[in-house]
Amino acid sequence: MEKIEVLLEALPYIKNFSGCTFVVKYGGAAMEEERLTKEFASDVVLLKYVGINPVIVHGGGPQIERMLKLLDIPTRFVDGLRVTDEQTLEIVEMVLSGSINKEIVQQIHNTGGQAIGLSGKDGRLIVAEKAKGRDIGFVGDVTEVNHRIIRDISDSGYIPVIAPLASGTDGKSYNVNADTAAGSIAKALGAEKLILLTDVAGVLDENLRTISVLKAKDAKKLVKSDTVKGGMIPKITCCLDALAGGVKKTHIIDGRVPHALLLEVFTDSGIGTQIAGE
Ligand code: ADP
Ligand code: MG
Repeated sequence: MEKIEVLLEALPYIKNFSGCTFVVKYGGAAMEEERLTKEFASDVVLLKYVGINPVIVHGGGPQIERMLKLLDIPTRFVDGLRVTDEQTLEIVEMVLSGSINKEIVQQIHNTGGQAIGLSGKDGRLIVAEKAKGRDIGFVGDVTEVNHRIIRDISDSGYIPVIAPLASGTDGKSYNVNADTAAGSIAKALGAEKLILLTDVAGVLDENLRTISVLKAKDAKKLVKSDTVKGGMIPKITCCLDALAGGVKKTHIIDGRVPHALLLEVFTDSGIGTQIAGE
């Protein structure tokens, strides 16, 4: 009976979301721990088979760091920010586009789905300019998303898997923050949901409690008051930007939880933090 209840709870969601696009930022433990990678792939394949169009944008910071260390490539920091020089960018691209991207594609195939891996450079999917402010090398701000290729891939029955690299307006290549890339793509596609997987329970308040629903104006306050810091800032910023750009719902969820994606999409309670409009 329990199984039946679970399926019935999912039914209205399947009905509502069929035909919709969900952009998912994939990274952290969910991308590193073997069991979680398999579960993530099966979640994505299930979404696809119930008529949702999942679009995956992945990160890869820790894997890049490991490769730089292995190759003895020193890292320079400016104000605590990693500088992506030409040599580093080459490794970034190798790891993101060559290694991680294809692993995810393979995992989806192993789970019975079909995926196509591409980087933001393919079809000029993501166009960027050099990030403003401190010079940290080949790190870009997204200026344009040409989403047609994503639609074509999705409409052909494949799951697009995107590495966060971009074509520069200056003809060079840039690395863009994967959360920001996912947000920009969600906006361009008019996605129903933007879901960011990370290694914390969600957005935490000053008492380290997970906030389940966070209004835009309160989110801004949390950033201002320094309650939200570091890597959580681009997540919040891109969720707010996506909401302002027409994405219906944005979520920051705990990728360490088995089947986090299905729990968010198909249960009444959901998990993690939903960032809502106003
Ligand atoms: P990812 O690899 O998922 O992009 P990041 O390390 O870039 O992860 O960003 C998430 C991190 O942001 C968390 O692990 C946490 O250390 C940090 N963080 C800062 N402020 C908060 C907050 N208020 N709530 C949750 N996480 C926060
Ligand atoms: Mg991050």
